[in-house]
Amino acid sequence: MKHTITLIPGDGIGPEIIAATVRILEATGVDIEWETRILGAQAQEQFGTTLPESTIESIKRNKVALKGPQMTPVGKGFTSVNVGLRKALDLYANVRPIKALPNVPCKYPGLDLVVMRENTEDLYAGLEHVVVPGVVESIKIITEKASTRIAQYSFEFARANGRKKVTAVHKANIMKLSDGLFLECFYKVAKDFPEIESDDKIIDNCCMQLVMRPEQFDVLVLENLYGDIVSDLCAGLIGGLGLAPGANIGEQGAVFEAVHGSAPDIAGQGLANPTAILMSGIMMLRHLGENDPADRAQKAMLDVFGEGRYLTKDLGGTAKTNEFARAIVEKMQATDAAAV
Ligand code: ATP
Repeated sequence: MKHTITLIPGDGIGPEIIAATVRILEATGVDIEWETRILGAQAQEQFGTTLPESTIESIKRNKVALKGPQMTPVGKGFTSVNVGLRKALDLYANVRPIKALPNVPCKYPGLDLVVMRENTEDLYAGLEHVVVPGVVESIKIITEKASTRIAQYSFEFARANGRKKVTAVHKANIMKLSDGLFLECFYKVAKDFPEIESDDKIIDNCCMQLVMRPEQFDVLVLENLYGDIVSDLCAGLIGGLGLAPGANIGEQGAVFEAVHGSAPDIAGQGLANPTAILMSGIMMLRHLGENDPADRAQKAMLDVFGEGRYLTKDLGGTAKTNEFARAIVEKMQATDAAAV
């Protein structure tokens, strides 16, 4: 079956890691027609808006997108297009699997957990204003609807994926109303999933526990900001941001993207690790029901890691982005040739 997929190369290292991923996904033999679209600064130049209708419309029509990281200016300039896109398409669940890979040096080999980040509200609502000069107010929005929806998705995900426990992470001791509501919704939903253990942790303690004994966690469900921060922490546990994939899921579609940003410090040098976006692409294939191609790409990637000859710089190796991709493609071809 042919799939039409929206492809957003993104900024910084985006085009390099997306090119590597497209090459590997195509080598699986899956039939994909890519519809390339742009966002952010590039789109501002071409269309006068960072979130052009042609990009939104393409994702709505295709229901699936593979997206590179988009740069967000710090402290000034346009608001995040990553956040804007998630809001525009109501992609409420950000699923971020954190799984250690064989032969990749990391603090916790064998770690396997999932960060489930609420994607549409919290301080990310972007409601900030100057009250009087020198005083700024930033509004945290937490609703029963969004909190219930992400809790429901987390438990359903746990049930569908053989996960045993869901932990809500919060600061309800201080933010009694907002985080209190998030927690209340979580436990209400938990009642419908008696076979799955449910508990909660205060965010600061959770961070310490993640560093010291992360194996106690299975699925973590968090509000938007906590989810953003804890995702990077968890990526660090398994070897860094180059290894953490993600999916943004909603009723109107799914956008697959890595946890990391556009990494301007290494852009254009062929140094970026494409693993996180490749694994996001493999998640995308599974979402499309293309399990065989997904298995083939995953196996070839794991074999390349297993041999340890082609590690990118962030993992202590010397392989360039395209050399790593080529090694995976050659591994797939060698497996095919052996099978004939
Ligand atoms: P954002 O605000 O967009 O999330 P960020 O501040 O988290 O971005 P990143 O762009 O994710 O920053 O980069 C953080 C650090 O991790 C940088 O030093 C960057 O070079 C490194 N990094 C991120 N992604 C990769 C990758 N795929 N391969 C190698 N290094 C990476």
